[in-house]
Amino acid sequence: MEFAAFAERVERLEAEPADLETTAIVADLLADAGDDLGTVTRLLLGRTYPAHDDRTLDVGPASCREAIARAAGPNVAAADVEDRLASRGEIGAVAAGFDFGGQRGLSAFGDGSDPLSVAEVDGTLRELAAATGEGSESRKVDALFGLFNRCDPAEAKTLARLVLGEMRIGVGEGTVRDAVAEAFLAEDGPGSGTEAGNGERDATTQTDDGTDGSDGDGGDDAENRATDEAYAAVERALQVTNDYGRVARLAREAGIEGLNAERIRVGRPVQAMLAQAGTAADAVDSFGEVAVETKFDGARVQVHYAPGPDGFGPRLYSRNMDDVTDALPEIVEYVADRIEVPVVLDGEIVAVDDDGSPLPFQEMLRRFRRKHDVDRMRETVTCRLHAFDCLLAGDGDAESDRDSDGDGDEDAPGDLLEEPLRVRHDRLVDVLPDAAAELRVVDDTEAIAGIESAALEAGHEGVMLKDPTSAYTPGNRGRDWLKRKPDVETLDAVVVGAEWGEGRRAELFGTFLLAVADGDEYEPIGKVATGLSDEELEELTERLEPHVVAESGTELRIRPEVVLEVGYEEIQTSPTYGSGYALRFPRFVGVREDKSVEDVDTLERVSGLADGRGRAGDDEANDGTGDEANDGTGDEANDETDAGNPS
Ligand code: AMP
Repeated sequence: MEFAAFAERVERLEAEPADLETTAIVADLLADAGDDLGTVTRLLLGRTYPAHDDRTLDVGPASCREAIARAAGPNVAAADVEDRLASRGEIGAVAAGFDFGGQRGLSAFGDGSDPLSVAEVDGTLRELAAATGEGSESRKVDALFGLFNRCDPAEAKTLARLVLGEMRIGVGEGTVRDAVAEAFLAEDGPGSGTEAGNGERDATTQTDDGTDGSDGDGGDDAENRATDEAYAAVERALQVTNDYGRVARLAREAGIEGLNAERIRVGRPVQAMLAQAGTAADAVDSFGEVAVETKFDGARVQVHYAPGPDGFGPRLYSRNMDDVTDALPEIVEYVADRIEVPVVLDGEIVAVDDDGSPLPFQEMLRRFRRKHDVDRMRETVTCRLHAFDCLLAGDGDAESDRDSDGDGDEDAPGDLLEEPLRVRHDRLVDVLPDAAAELRVVDDTEAIAGIESAALEAGHEGVMLKDPTSAYTPGNRGRDWLKRKPDVETLDAVVVGAEWGEGRRAELFGTFLLAVADGDEYEPIGKVATGLSDEELEELTERLEPHVVAESGTELRIRPEVVLEVGYEEIQTSPTYGSGYALRFPRFVGVREDKSVEDVDTLERVSGLADGRGRAGDDEANDGTGDEANDGTGDEANDETDAGNPS
């Protein structure tokens, strides 16, 4: 494709405010891109390389201005370009405002016999990215000058913006994603093609490091009519590859089937699976059995490693797929020392103290992404990997683990994305036992609360609740993973009643009725039975027995004397208790030895907390699934708000 044709579409896109039209123009452009489809797709997004490839052009604005000045002729200096930039504010408009030597009809090539092609521009941009060392800056200016010299105004505008990474034409990833589906997978899409193409699919599409050499025939199959399916296939392939150019080519040449066959592989990070906020009751209700893991307070990292001479890494990618390997040498060493098969692992990096206990998130931030002083900082803050998922694990058989033809398209040995979490976790324990986060499968909320208390006690952020049967869905913020953050606020409430325990705890009080102050009265607000050890129960029984004022069956009425601090997930209005409110999932935090009954929280505060709902710093919504143990208070509607952006 000629670069002028690309630039002309870019101008049309820039002038088009309507989203639907934008998508249609992009779809047309992709359909017309021919051999340059991969390149055009990336350039539209202002990229030379796929998002996970951290190579950059590394051309400073000054070099770009100098190249523009030189191409504009002897009377123009870099300072003039700078002046115009100051008044116009945008490099594309500045570049378009000059008469370059190559303007059609004016230049030495004025007969149009040497038009710039998209491939040529892309090739030069890649050369810029590769140029390093002494003299590289001036070589970059030379190369850019060569391009600008052959540009007409529209081309110059697009080129300057590409070079400085400022496309700004209103074409985002979502537009390209939709346009790919519409161009190649819709029945009447612009790239659906009328010629055969069917059954002739080329599943060996190359990576973005080369051209694809396809002939541009569309893949218009019957199956492509399912538009929802087509969008979903494009989206999934993007989540797995993060390579728009590759996905566009796959859509064209291999259709939905080809997109769906795309697999995870070592060296190509996939988007991280995300969690929604949820409660223990949600997890038990929806999963039955719940896989409970510690929620580590650190930074997400994806580990890619293939041992051996022809191997890869270890390399570490952040949640946004930035390469953060160089900042974390001890993790690299740790992984390289222990892992013997190709792997892709998901986990969290946390900063730890000398005893291995977690340090606050801010400490870890002093290490993550650090480019300078890595060795010195390594002495100051130690990082540790907690791996919690295994997305790929080879079996160690070199034959099956290797991508033998090097095209990256082999049937991805060891791909575990579709496997249930339990299976993935077993593989994780096989490949990296000491760093594998413990996964406990339980089926009741009490057990979850117990694990959460232990996690909090150990200094972690809380727990994650996962469906043990669920697949790993890259980029998806679904309901298969729930993040259960600890309660932010606690309440100080006084014990006004108790119930005898059961079984081996029959001699002890097991459940405590709590109340808050309403003027001179104490109004009950909930019962707490969770979070108490046998010893604490013994102690509390001893403390409370002298204050028992009445007993009926297993229930006791107790004079308000002892104040407990309790956590909870939520405060709901409730007809059950005199206070008019009920705590959901009340959890014993401690006895407030320092507080007397005069100091307990008031109904007023409770009512304020209840109105405030979604507590500070907590992005979850009220879930409203009732919890039997908590007196049937959960009758309000679902109010899910955590449809956050999976970035
Ligand atoms: P949030 O950042 O609050 O949305 O919580 C989700 C994040 O928790 C993930 O992106 C991870 O970085 C982090 N995390 C910590 N421990 C785990 C775990 N065991 N499983 C999944 N994510 C975890």
